[in-house]
Amino acid sequence: MHPFSYTRISNTREAIGAGQRGGRYIAGGTTLVDLMRETVERPGELVDIAALPLRDITTTERGGLRIGALVTMAEAAAHLDVRTSHPVIAQALELSASAQLRNMATIGGNIMQRTRCTYFRDVTAACNKRAPGSGCAALDGVNRTHAILGTSDQCVATHPSDVAVAFAALEATVHLLGPDGERSVAFADFLLPPGSAPNREQSLRPGELITAVEVPAHPRPLRSGYLKVRDRQSYEFALTSAAVALHIQGGVIRAAKVAAGGVGSVPWKLPAVERRLIGQRPSQALWADAAGRAADGARPLSHNEFKVELLKRTVERQLRIVGGTR
Ligand code: SF4
Repeated sequence: MHPFSYTRISNTREAIGAGQRGGRYIAGGTTLVDLMRETVERPGELVDIAALPLRDITTTERGGLRIGALVTMAEAAAHLDVRTSHPVIAQALELSASAQLRNMATIGGNIMQRTRCTYFRDVTAACNKRAPGSGCAALDGVNRTHAILGTSDQCVATHPSDVAVAFAALEATVHLLGPDGERSVAFADFLLPPGSAPNREQSLRPGELITAVEVPAHPRPLRSGYLKVRDRQSYEFALTSAAVALHIQGGVIRAAKVAAGGVGSVPWKLPAVERRLIGQRPSQALWADAAGRAADGARPLSHNEFKVELLKRTVERQLRIVGGTR
């Protein structure tokens, strides 16, 4: 591990000043410390923000749900409002990592976590995300778990977060505080697909700190849930996943929010699936037809062609479960 300084900060302004000077924020540390041990990350200064007052879950005036950036995954998953109003968030969190990690890791850190591409974590391998311009070992390597949507010829890694898929489906907003004050970014614009610069992963400006993620109010009742398909049933990342939320009234689907994980360079919103559902009556045929659009635009790699069909089936199954016609 490379030498670094460590500062524990309890004041938001001081944190932003330190971040502006190039300090790296750390809270639960469940991703960053691993990467530092592997020398993938070599920050000169760690700024510990765990003591900042960003640990609340509140209902907003407009009826949305605001989750502080330093709320742990376990706290968010157990919170009554999260469980009752947005089970898709609680389920995505409970299907992530291990109980020990969920007790440490924070919501802000979770959406900031870096890819699990093995070549990214192997400092001897070519990786444009870790070392821009060095190439991408996954393109001709073992790429079974990599992305089929939103990739580029520079990087084909997936985003590993589960709860980010739920946030993408629900069209959340990320609240930020930086040297120029507060601003908010739509979740769809917060995480960046690789394009020609896969080392740039979020639309953060220097020194900016995530303060909260806010899920807007949706029409009630909203049924929702998260399905994760993986090689083993515990402590494993998704091969495919689906976050689904449906508002069904009078036997008709009035609102549909759907996103997929494990398949995209970022959590992958599925607007074609949503459009097919809205205004329709739930049926097995509808779920199958809508899910058939889930992999539109997919570009599978040499080892992950199977994800195209698996994604469609994952979305179809979760539509059936949430839609109540299983
Ligand atoms: Fe690096 Fe992305 Fe290629 Fe993996 S897929 S080796 S993260 S550039």
